[in-house]
Amino acid sequence: MRPSIAWPGGARSCVALAFDLDGPTGDAMLDGSLKGNPAYFTLGAYGPYRALPRILTMLETFRLPATFFVPTWVIEHWPTQCRAIIEAGHEVAYHGHRHELFWTLDDAQQREIMTRSQAIFHDLLGVRPVGFRTPSGDWGAQTPDILNEFGVRYSSSMRGDDRPYHVAVDGHPQGLIEIPARWELDDYASLAYQRAPDFPRGLDRTAPYAQVLANWCAEFDGSHEEGLSMTTLLHPKVSARPGRMALLEAFLAHMTAHEDVWFARCRDVAEFWQQLPAQSPGQSPDQEPRHAG
Ligand SMILES: [Zn+2]
Repeated sequence: MRPSIAWPGGARSCVALAFDLDGPTGDAMLDGSLKGNPAYFTLGAYGPYRALPRILTMLETFRLPATFFVPTWVIEHWPTQCRAIIEAGHEVAYHGHRHELFWTLDDAQQREIMTRSQAIFHDLLGVRPVGFRTPSGDWGAQTPDILNEFGVRYSSSMRGDDRPYHVAVDGHPQGLIEIPARWELDDYASLAYQRAPDFPRGLDRTAPYAQVLANWCAEFDGSHEEGLSMTTLLHPKVSARPGRMALLEAFLAHMTAHEDVWFARCRDVAEFWQQLPAQSPGQSPDQEPRHAG
């Protein structure tokens, strides 16, 4: 397929590396079972405490920018580690406070989480994020509207394309830019294993690392061939372990061996896409829009 998107700098394709720094937040924290499961807590805490610095060192070595979606409970408990993300020039963005399931919450509850998160980002990191990745894999009917109220310009939550796309939001002319992610680039799908609680359910082993690398490289190769954009769903606590760093590094080496890739933070991808002419679903940016808006 002929590449049709004129990415910045004449690049053929775009890669927005993204990490979800969940720490110990998530279902077990939300239902209270984490209190009786210190081993599970430490599995999560390993992410910001021990794994994150490895990711930052790797990104510095490869001179690559990235976006970190961070539940603000993690920022409250590891502020120094999270500050290092900003100091290295990367982006931080919304991911709930305790990794709440947004699609199960009413509008007031979602607003409460966003209000609290916004204050924590401001008070502890001095930033006002413009991005959001839903921590639950889905959202409610009013979520895009609520995100707009809090100054969110893009989301990386949906699966509807392999390029960014506009999401119309009533009453908000700019709407949202969606930067879709995919399970194929989620390290949980191949590398996570937790016995109690068993998560992911039914997964009784991890995939061979060489196979995971081959899969991820194939995903990039396809995206690059067609001139698309690709983002990742990597979790430091899952991937950034001593035996797995070589896998991550080989993945980055494979992509950076191509000189015509635009590596960008998600916010930069969203800004770029926002200034393109509006498109109808299924259209490439270089095609004439069938209708305005
Ligand atoms: Zn997450």
